[in-house]
Amino acid sequence: MLNIILFGAPGSGKGTQSEKLIERYGLKHISTGDLCREEIREGTALGAVADSYISKGQLVPDDIVIGLLEDQLKRCCTKPGLIFDGFPRTLVQGEALDQILAKYNERVSIVLSLEVDEDELIQRLLKRGEVSGRSDDNLEVIESRLRVYHEQTTPLKTFYQNQGKLVKVDGVGSIDDIFASMVSAVDQLFVKA
Ligand code: ADP
Repeated sequence: MLNIILFGAPGSGKGTQSEKLIERYGLKHISTGDLCREEIREGTALGAVADSYISKGQLVPDDIVIGLLEDQLKRCCTKPGLIFDGFPRTLVQGEALDQILAKYNERVSIVLSLEVDEDELIQRLLKRGEVSGRSDDNLEVIESRLRVYHEQTTPLKTFYQNQGKLVKVDGVGSIDDIFASMVSAVDQLFVKA
């Protein structure tokens, strides 16, 4: 099965590209950000906890996010393949994902890392904030999210590089060009297989 992790800072275009990858490869979308926002919308106790972190630009605690992910996989199973958008974001989550997938006899196939410089990220997120209505798309929270990304999420790059799974993709340019780079990296997997 093809299991893709879409890796990148907030605003790097993970959401946009995952939609296109889903269409191309028929994958199931798993976004822990969406799962958290769903809990918040439904007014659950877990949603209230998640909201208190998200609105400050901090990461929701690992056990909560990992729990949401496990529930989602139980409900939807792992077929025909998965795309992880915004997960994992910490080393603990990366290690947990390997263990969870192993239970389904699955593994991470490839990690596509969207590389976008910081100024561009801030501009994109501010622009998105004008239309998204997301509580975390304002300058103060954006800066905190980017700081958290560098401190807690970037170490995962080494984790996946050591596994030979990390592919860096230039995330600046047209949506179609970026998508084409991703597709060529994914299709390489089938050549090797
Ligand atoms: P973005 O990539 O633009 O930050 P997401 O929807 O992926 O958008 O995430 C929004 C927020 O949801 C994050 O800032 C964080 O607070 C929370 N969140 C999402 N995924 C995770 C995760 N894997 N671990 C911890 N917190 C998460």
